[in-house]
Amino acid sequence: MLREPTRPGAPLWLLAELTYRCPLHCAFCYNPVDYARHGAELDTDTWIEVISAARKLGAAQIGFSGGEPLQRDDLEMLVEHARAIGFYTNLITSGIGLNAARIERLKLAGLDHIQLSLQDSTRELNDFVTSTRTFALKQEAARLIKAHGYPMVLNCVLHRYNLPHVAQIIEMALDLGADYLELANTQYYGWAMLNRDQLMPTAEQLVEAEETVNRYRERIGGRCKILFVVPDYFERRPKACMNGWGSVFLGVAPDGAALPCHAARSLPGLVLPNVRDMPISQIWYESDAFNAFRGHAWMREPCRDCDERHTDHGGCRCQAWMLTGDPAAADPVCEKSPHHEQVVQTVQFARQPGKVEERPLIFRSRENSLAR
Ligand code: SF4
Ligand code: SF4
Repeated sequence: MLREPTRPGAPLWLLAELTYRCPLHCAFCYNPVDYARHGAELDTDTWIEVISAARKLGAAQIGFSGGEPLQRDDLEMLVEHARAIGFYTNLITSGIGLNAARIERLKLAGLDHIQLSLQDSTRELNDFVTSTRTFALKQEAARLIKAHGYPMVLNCVLHRYNLPHVAQIIEMALDLGADYLELANTQYYGWAMLNRDQLMPTAEQLVEAEETVNRYRERIGGRCKILFVVPDYFERRPKACMNGWGSVFLGVAPDGAALPCHAARSLPGLVLPNVRDMPISQIWYESDAFNAFRGHAWMREPCRDCDERHTDHGGCRCQAWMLTGDPAAADPVCEKSPHHEQVVQTVQFARQPGKVEERPLIFRSRENSLAR
């Protein structure tokens, strides 16, 4: 593999995926579909070492996620350690397991920021897409977050089922006192890729939802900042995935596998180093996995000579692999890719009878994971 000569900068962001355990079963979950086959979780001492090593390397922000990070009893201890050594600490949670005692302990530990996921404005759809009864629990978690003085940061994944509810989702966020609402259209990795044809919205749904968002932005001004992230499949250029491979993002999976991006586990032939076997600094600077798509030397045509390669870095490697079978291909979201037509057709065929197979959603569960 050709390597570019310059030494990469330090990671800015450590994502600590503490566990794949989660009480929810979201049909769009970004965890790997075979998550149940991965090894034992790192223990507390190893996480402390990982957090210290990443900070020493230069990382400034840490996200605690999963699965559901509240499933780990040592979450408060890890937050306290990260805070003490200078990390800005974020908890990324479904809210299930967040009670008064827990949030008080997290506050005492120094937790800076909480991002709460909501699935819909209605109990029916929330409970359907998560295959749980968690609507009321999430509302309670939102109240606890507000009562403890945290900014209210909500995230809602959008798809064909809840896009028609965007106005009601915004109203719900405003009622809960949201300061920030991220409306993130489903990205098709992990379980969402399994359910892609079922979750894919129509172009009309997206246009309508964006218009609704814009109307609310005008009406509410600075009271709540609303972010609307358009799904890749509806774009003509890919996003600068991870701001470039091995550039700012360092993820660590529950079993200690180090991840250059959230979905890197899905890439064939990529041997992910494990924090149990290799120091973080060596993983970041020297491992084959973190160097595999760093810089631009790995690119093929049309990216290799494209003057946009410094902007989008060729897009997402996992999307390239899933849609073309070649992880070094241009992301087919790009209209310069010879595979772009596949993306166009997937969008066009969404919901057209006879064009896509009609089948029920596959929910994230241990049984379904072990069956993959
Ligand atoms: S997307 Fe849903 S199932 Fe997956 S980790 Fe988050 S809350 Fe759990
Ligand atoms: S050809 Fe490659 S580098 Fe150029 S815009 Fe498309 S994805 Fe980006």
